[in-house]
Amino acid sequence: MSRPLFSSTIAGSLPKPSWLAETRKLWPQWKADGAELAQAKADATLLWIKAQEDTGLDVIGDGEQSRQHFVHGFLEQVEGIDFDHKVRMGIRNNRYDAMVPQVVSPLRLKGRVHATEARLLRAHATRRIKFTLPGPMTIVDTVADRFYGDRVKMAMAFADLLNQEALALQADGVDIIQFDEPAFNVYMQDAADWGVKALERAAEGLTCTTAVHICYGYGIQANVDWKATLGDEWRQYEAVFPALAKSRIDQVSLECFHSHVPPDLMKLLDGKDVMVGVIDVASDEVETPEQVADTIGLALKYVPKQRLLPCTNCGMAPMDRDVALRKLQALADGSALARKRYG
Ligand code: ZN
Repeated sequence: MSRPLFSSTIAGSLPKPSWLAETRKLWPQWKADGAELAQAKADATLLWIKAQEDTGLDVIGDGEQSRQHFVHGFLEQVEGIDFDHKVRMGIRNNRYDAMVPQVVSPLRLKGRVHATEARLLRAHATRRIKFTLPGPMTIVDTVADRFYGDRVKMAMAFADLLNQEALALQADGVDIIQFDEPAFNVYMQDAADWGVKALERAAEGLTCTTAVHICYGYGIQANVDWKATLGDEWRQYEAVFPALAKSRIDQVSLECFHSHVPPDLMKLLDGKDVMVGVIDVASDEVETPEQVADTIGLALKYVPKQRLLPCTNCGMAPMDRDVALRKLQALADGSALARKRYG
């Protein structure tokens, strides 16, 4: 399917309505359970499909309304994980603590993970659809291992499960499958050494478009503090982009607007589609369409226009719902403005 110039999309997550879950939290509690919760998740998914289409975005997602957290949503359907005895663990190289489940036996999928929301998305979105899954390396960094004793081995085991679900999502009619790998920006050498291999294993056999999202995290305080320690130039992408450029993954999502990422690092992704972050998710200040178009203009120095896809820097799960909606509008309007300016 051909796509418009500067085809716009979000990184993945969107805020959950207050009747679905606690707001402005990374691991929010659901407001219902059982059938009532399932219905509320579906309602919230429909609401965000409509909102994304109304703003004029080109690729539509489910807003991750059905998962409590972008990693644990997948893990809940995995056999071999003990969710009843979570432990406190420092994640992303101890940047912050999280209560994580434990891997206690061989990993297997209990069944489909995201069939309901993927089919809902396919049935109601009129445009191309994207579905997000956590990447193997980031999963490994968000569970406590009591079984494998080897990060690479465990990552490959998760990659097999992700692959199983990804192939099923493709069969559901998903156009783009994106793996989220914020851990690539934390363990740069590991990412280049085996993270990309694990990612390719997760994407094996897919004929739909494949993508990877690598970011500096949600706009939560721990990440804001961490970013303040990274200096004037954030060169983390430099280690992994060459490996990704050689990989079979089609699209790479990166942070740009308000980040300290030197934009010329995008040149390392020659041959790939580049999802350029033109919306800051760590600030409630809403971008203007002009600012969005300016960021696209900056990226055009390093990325051919047919390969440039405007995106948010990261997911918007912990944001205010109204702010997120206005940022989606800015993303769509700024992309339209860029089409006029540079088209
Ligand atoms: Zn992100």
